[in-house]
Amino acid sequence: MNVAVAPQFSVRRAEPLSRHTSWHVGGPAEVFFSPASRAELAAFLRALPAGVPVQFIGLGSNLLVRDGGIPGVVISMHGTLDELRRLSDTTVQAGAGVACARIARSCIKWGLGPAEFFAGIPGTLGGALAMNAGAFGGETWRHVLAVETIDRSGATHERGVADYRIGYREVVPLHPGEWFVSARLSFEQRPGAHEGEVKLLLARRKASQPIGEWSCGSVFVNPPGDHAARLIESAGLKGYRIGGASVSAKHANFIINHGEARATDIERLIEHVRATVEQLHGVTLRTEVRILGVPA
Ligand SMILES: Cc1cc2nc3c(=O)[nH]c(=O)nc-3n(C[C@H](O)[C@H](O)[C@H](O)COP(=O)(O)OP(=O)(O)OC[C@H]3O[C@@H](n4cnc5c(N)ncnc54)[C@H](O)[C@@H]3O)c2cc1C
Repeated sequence: MNVAVAPQFSVRRAEPLSRHTSWHVGGPAEVFFSPASRAELAAFLRALPAGVPVQFIGLGSNLLVRDGGIPGVVISMHGTLDELRRLSDTTVQAGAGVACARIARSCIKWGLGPAEFFAGIPGTLGGALAMNAGAFGGETWRHVLAVETIDRSGATHERGVADYRIGYREVVPLHPGEWFVSARLSFEQRPGAHEGEVKLLLARRKASQPIGEWSCGSVFVNPPGDHAARLIESAGLKGYRIGGASVSAKHANFIINHGEARATDIERLIEHVRATVEQLHGVTLRTEVRILGVPA
């Protein structure tokens, strides 16, 4: 595909997505665009020829991009649409590009909570909305009052919680073909909230997860009533390696890129883990990680 882009938009062609994913793997985006503003995002979408596939990404902390990359256009929300402000005693307005950790820090500063769980999620609000990201009992959509979305024609829409089917790490829109631009979030007043609580949660994470290594967090969602990590560990898969990727020895639901992995190593490892767990435990694990793009 040769995507025609109007000259007023600054895009990168054949941008390696390994630079934009926390696994540091992935082939090129045919066209990579990071809008400078909402208006530019709308104009870009409006001008895009029909039929060109569009893929939004945030910080790439939940993505496995295949080695052949992503045909069409990848729109990155990292470092843009990142306005964050307090609207009222208990509500906050945040752009889809705001880093989750910033939401946690700002809410603490404003005496709002519980938002500490956002601190350990290394993604954008847009990604957290798409995934219903959560940790330590907190979940993104529990705080959503309304979201603003944008569609392929550049038109924006205000949507409520009832416009989505929300589940555990799953968000199904009733109006497909729209992406998140911002959200209005609600919290409780927590005058005593302080940074110490965030530090404690991050320390708990560090004790049990391979933080600092190249990963995508949990690869599989937990099946009802069980933990993916327990099933994987008891299948003897901790440390199991394919190419440059292995199942973490610290947390069995993490797959680590040791530096030289390709997406295909990681995908093969995911399939091996799934097949082994299915054979031994009779449970089919569903990936939390989103697998995108085409093989090399
Ligand atoms: C070390 C580590 C720890 C992690 N811990 C947790 C955890 O505790 N809890 C948890 O839930 N997750 C965790 N994750 C996974 C990940 O951080 C979350 O899923 C996060 O919400 C992804 O956000 P992102 O901006 O990186 O999205 P991306 O990975 O870039 O994208 C994820 C999905 O969101 C979609 N998306 C992104 N932006 C938009 C938008 N504006 N509009 C519509 N769709 C969009 C993408 O198309 C894709 O389908 C962890 C990851 C790592 C690396």
